[in-house]
Amino acid sequence: MRFHRTTIATAIATFVSLTFAQSEGNTMLPGAAAAAAASSASTYSCDTNVCKLANGCVCASKNPPNGLSPSDTPQFVTVTFDDSIQPQLYKTAKRMLNVTNPNGCSGRGTWYVSMQYTDFSLVQQWYSSGNEIADHTFSHVGTPSDQEIMSCKEMLNTYGGVPNGKIQGFRAPFLNYTKETLNHLSKLGFLYDSSSSALQDDAYWPYTLDYGMANDCWTGICGAGQTKLPGLWEIPMYAVLDNISTPQLMDVYISGQPEDVTKWSLDTFNKHYNGGRQPFGIYVHPTHLTGYPGLPDPAPKLDGLVSLIKTLSEKPDVWFVTNQQLLQWMKNPVKASELGKQDYMRCEQPVIAKEICNGLDDDNNGNVDDGLLNSCNFGTTTFNTCFNCPSTAPTLDTPKPANTAQAGSAGFRYPLPNDCDTKWWDPIGNACLCTSTECQYKDTAVPVNRTAGGNGVASNGSGSSSDANSILNNQLENVFLITVALVATLFL
Ligand SMILES: [Zn+2]
Repeated sequence: MRFHRTTIATAIATFVSLTFAQSEGNTMLPGAAAAAAASSASTYSCDTNVCKLANGCVCASKNPPNGLSPSDTPQFVTVTFDDSIQPQLYKTAKRMLNVTNPNGCSGRGTWYVSMQYTDFSLVQQWYSSGNEIADHTFSHVGTPSDQEIMSCKEMLNTYGGVPNGKIQGFRAPFLNYTKETLNHLSKLGFLYDSSSSALQDDAYWPYTLDYGMANDCWTGICGAGQTKLPGLWEIPMYAVLDNISTPQLMDVYISGQPEDVTKWSLDTFNKHYNGGRQPFGIYVHPTHLTGYPGLPDPAPKLDGLVSLIKTLSEKPDVWFVTNQQLLQWMKNPVKASELGKQDYMRCEQPVIAKEICNGLDDDNNGNVDDGLLNSCNFGTTTFNTCFNCPSTAPTLDTPKPANTAQAGSAGFRYPLPNDCDTKWWDPIGNACLCTSTECQYKDTAVPVNRTAGGNGVASNGSGSSSDANSILNNQLENVFLITVALVATLFL
């Protein structure tokens, strides 16, 4: 049995809107469900004989790129965080990513940052420790203007010290984007968008928009003559189906008890892992997972997620990556066995003889940038930064007001130049401490041997590869059997 696509799309529109309403306090695309019902879903078409990776073009597909077999393909997991970065939220995110990739490097994630309440010293710490910083607009608005997107990017660079060339991704607040949003991103030189939603039948690997959108087609965005933006990538967000087959996209933990959320998530993960190895995503608002006085304790939800992530990390071919790392792999797909050797997967910290304000603990005393941060206060707006405080609070129109300190005066911080990475830049000493192509780095990878049970898989010490895998497979398959019958009514 198969439902007519428009029927499913309408149902999806309604359910997904509900999920967004819970997660960000707003509904996505009001009236979209009615619009989808009124018009048939537009179609996506991409010719693989013309669209080739060698030319920077990738068609939407549920199979791994370049004909790679699923068994040779890394299983990527992308953990993403949305909205402001604040000290307690930062701790929550770090706790979720406290896992090790098969090459011994710590798991990485992507933060889509909006400006209000953001502490820019933490933006820098997130970036310097190997994670990705991406754009989520200045004011946290849907269908944003160029200025909303660019003011955010300018502040991430100016106060967070993230090189402009490393701010490559965007997610629309409330996931409320249109083809105009994608046009803005292309014009502004972004590498990718990650605002669309994917279900089982359109759980595509990331693809370029040379042939337009292949997700959210119920909005009419996929048809011929809609969005065609060669070279701009779309990284779909992969929905998890709950026990009544409702797609849950962000903040799945809001919709069920931790054990339910784990079951739903493992089921979707297993479909990807045993299917086309499409990436699996965990998309959260850390504010929901962080305790505040007077509100219900979110610790069980966070503990459940941490446990889920730990379970996934025990698979020998699972990698926790940023969306930029995922796209680096898409551009040059290598087998899972080769992934750990790729430059973009390494984890190295610069060796710097003294503490500089670079988001790292250079002198290894347990504190990052100790005593070096500027604190900028404007009443309701307060943030720390390694760079100059603005003389007034940044606004959408003026994201970089004049500095309080003048160039050459005491206390002036020198902005990050284009030819030095943040990790090496001393904004007080006005020096790039990497002066050659052979700067000294310290490898921070730790020994990992998942196939020998060395990563906590077989904590009973039995330790063989087959033991470890069978334990996990049993867990996954039990969940799969329970849920497949429910899912089947809608999708099989
Ligand atoms: Zn948001």
